[in-house]
Amino acid sequence: MKVAVYPGSFDPITYGHIDIAERALKVFDKLIIMITINPNKRAMFSAEERIDMVRETLKDHLNRVEIITCEDLTVNKTRELGATHIVRGLRAVTDFEYEFQMTHANRVLATEVDSIFFMTDNKYSFLSSNTVKEIAQFDGELATFVPDYVEQKLRQRFRK
Ligand code: ADP
Repeated sequence: MKVAVYPGSFDPITYGHIDIAERALKVFDKLIIMITINPNKRAMFSAEERIDMVRETLKDHLNRVEIITCEDLTVNKTRELGATHIVRGLRAVTDFEYEFQMTHANRVLATEVDSIFFMTDNKYSFLSSNTVKEIAQFDGELATFVPDYVEQKLRQRFRK
């Protein structure tokens, strides 16, 4: 069985993430969505809230998708889980530099784990969780960027 890990903050999950996950599911039998908990990054949503949004959003794929959190190095956790690949999404050349460094560092740390990259549909190539949070803050239109369920959570957060 071919298993891959898709790590990220998912704070919150967007149509860009979903697009990458669905592309990866065409190649791998099982995809583990790994919500990375990074103390250096201030998240808007708790780990539990992020898991809940990913689960609701990917509910049609839950037979082949698992959702976990990770406070460890991604590559160590990937190896521990017996997965062979780390899935990442590429939006534009700006993502490349960072991914290039991470991939080579990860190869040094775990030679048996490789990275694999997918490009999103062009319509999501500018989309990030940060953009979505900014739009939500100013009560802008969110329907084309996140599923309904995530939009509701964002609206609730900014209503408080
Ligand atoms: P991180 O903090 O690890 O970058 P993110 O949740 O922002 O976590 O992103 C996780 C992964 O999903 C990254 O590989 C990122 O490039 C990818 N990703 C996020 N949004 C998009 C998008 N709109 N199109 C393609 N890939 C995306």
